Amino acid sequence: MAGWAPVEQLFGLHVDFGHCTRDGRWLRPPAVRFTCLYGCDWATSGALRVAHFTRVITSHHALHCPGPPLT
Ligand SMILES: [Zn+2]
Repeated sequence: MAGWAPVEQLFGLHVDFGHCTRDGRWLRPPAVRFTCLYGCDWATSGALRVAHFTRVITSHHALHCPGPPLT
């Protein structure tokens, strides 16, 4: 059985929704990280920042990703 690839090879958007109590206290705040094959690595935490990050990451990545190396 091959198993899972090392986390360093699993590129993409990883969202941790955190843990919020019924009375609204965050025991673990939400967090997000985006990585890609070409070296992009952005992360943030906090409910509002994570919500904004997930809303804009696709267009942000399209504008700022260096893409594959030119050979
Ligand atoms: Zn990228």
